[in-house]
Amino acid sequence: MSLFGQNTPHDELLAGISDGKTQVIDLTYAINDKLVPWPGDGKFFEAKDNATVAKDGIFTRSFWMLEHYGTHLDAPIHFPPGTTPVDKIPVKQFFGPAVVIDVQSESTKNADYSVDAAHVAAWESRHGKIPAGAIVLLRTGWPSRWPDVKRYRNQDALGKMHFPGFSAEAVKVLIDRKISGLGCDTLSVDYGASSDYPVHHLGLGAGIYNLENLRDLSGLPETGAFLIVAPIKLEGGSGGPVRVFALLSNAAKSASESGAGSSGVAATK
Ligand SMILES: [Zn+2]
Repeated sequence: MSLFGQNTPHDELLAGISDGKTQVIDLTYAINDKLVPWPGDGKFFEAKDNATVAKDGIFTRSFWMLEHYGTHLDAPIHFPPGTTPVDKIPVKQFFGPAVVIDVQSESTKNADYSVDAAHVAAWESRHGKIPAGAIVLLRTGWPSRWPDVKRYRNQDALGKMHFPGFSAEAVKVLIDRKISGLGCDTLSVDYGASSDYPVHHLGLGAGIYNLENLRDLSGLPETGAFLIVAPIKLEGGSGGPVRVFALLSNAAKSASESGAGSSGVAATK
């Protein structure tokens, strides 16, 4: 069983964008001042008009924002021992097959759920070994809470947050698979109650970037989508806003929806 055997070849995926055979899913929240910031930051976003059509004949704005706000990328330099800033991440890491690990039912029962190595092994027993260069996304269902600060952070009386994430053990396996990036539909790839952020230290230390606050991942199959990740090229940045697109052939989509799963056959015409 080959992992990506059901996928449309990537050149066909690109060609299919214009004629609608390939669906493009935007996994990015629009940026404004009403998103869910990490606790503790007083100011997170500001935009103001510099010129208006009425006054100046053109419209321009300036904006200010945190590097880690909304849908954003953590560059390896964000946590030691990582050293690479966002502008120096090798561009080939921004393109790769999406591996979606679904923990929606576990997350509903336990907001502190973290994906363990056994969960990754179960994914691999269904779909094959996670390939080098994959971008591994955790689907928890948390976007249904966005942008409700209270429900999305899910803080207890002591201020500790409760949302699902990856475990250190799972990330060690993913590092071994030589993946390019990790992503989640929550505030952090570490689970919310973490205080030492092992997933950040381990993954970023291995040169793997993080995508955080991804939008609804429900349109993605566990395997079969291809991701394009386009972060801001901010010199020396610890990270920054990122636009993330998933490409999905309609054939792969209907195969996964009909339950054909990894044995589904993509259009090869
Ligand atoms: Zn971040």
